[in-house]
Amino acid sequence: MVVALHGAYLPRMGPHNNRDGRVKGFIPSRACHPEGLRAVLVGEDGYVVAELDRPEPGPGEIVVRMLSCGLCGTDVEKLEGRYRGSKPVVGHEAAGVVAALGEGVEGFREGELVVPHHHVNCGSCYYCLRGSPTMCPSYREYNFVPGGFSEYFSVPRWIVERGGVHVPPPGLSAREACLAEPTACVLRALRRIRFYEPSSYAVVGLGPMGLTFIQLARWAGAELVIGIDVNPARVSAAERYGAVGLLAGVEDDVAEVERLTGGRGVDAAFVAAGSPAALSRAISITRRGGVVCLFAVPPHGSSLSHDLSDLIVREVSIISSNAATDREMAEALQLLANGVVDARSMITHTYSIGEFGRALETFKSGTGIKILITP
Ligand SMILES: [Zn+2]
Ligand SMILES: [Zn+2]
Repeated sequence: MVVALHGAYLPRMGPHNNRDGRVKGFIPSRACHPEGLRAVLVGEDGYVVAELDRPEPGPGEIVVRMLSCGLCGTDVEKLEGRYRGSKPVVGHEAAGVVAALGEGVEGFREGELVVPHHHVNCGSCYYCLRGSPTMCPSYREYNFVPGGFSEYFSVPRWIVERGGVHVPPPGLSAREACLAEPTACVLRALRRIRFYEPSSYAVVGLGPMGLTFIQLARWAGAELVIGIDVNPARVSAAERYGAVGLLAGVEDDVAEVERLTGGRGVDAAFVAAGSPAALSRAISITRRGGVVCLFAVPPHGSSLSHDLSDLIVREVSIISSNAATDREMAEALQLLANGVVDARSMITHTYSIGEFGRALETFKSGTGIKILITP
């Protein structure tokens, strides 16, 4: 549970003050130092808004002044202790301007809009050379310091040196550009699914990822995309992006998918809701020989309750897709600039770092689509 640590400030200190990265102890109601910065960090029990020293760029590093940073489901899961796939650093969908360049950094100028990628693979290890770049042992080793929900953050040399800091195409605002990372993740998932050559898709879970998937699938030539959610506002949003919307729990989505696909089921289902029930439902609406892509992260420790013989009898493949590389980051920025993915229509709420608690409330209420955090 995220506890109300609203308005609590940490004393000035380094961002990694204990071994697992979780912040222990805080001093309430401390005024912000003029040369410091405010940042949302993972606390012992929820989030804390901390006051830290502004980072100085070390050799090869870039310090970014954050302009906007998307709130992602994995951020919420990390704050609640349910996601353990990477270190407890929150805020990874960030865009901002270059505030300071470390020694030896070339190709950037101060004040320039950039979209840094929080994880970058090495390009030469066993995994990188065999088509699993996001499973590279180095991929999750580095991240923004102290995180993207921070007025300033530094980008490690590892990321800068390997092309992880992107300059968006002209005309793209920081608000739109910060959607590059989630768009890149969806793009990679779509590529993995397209190996199976689908022409009809179902999207289970119509948050920002599901809605992005609809737009990309349509761009990639999908004949039919069916969007399924329990939230009527999200179903309507899916319809605006060209999907056939189904309101789960009200409409019989399994029967409806059958009807829309000539009794077969969809060729591919994209699971953008982090519950085992969503995965099972996705399997049920996928045709014989089809593919289900698990994208949203279910809570740590959850398991799938589904008749496994059904998978073999109907030869349904389950694949997963985790994160994205810088190739997809660059492509995602182009797709946002071209309007293939309409960022503006997905951004429904914007909160400052000091309003982070309200951002979490909106996230959990399901009333918004994409929520951005600004300084
Ligand atoms: Zn994300
Ligand atoms: Zn590697």
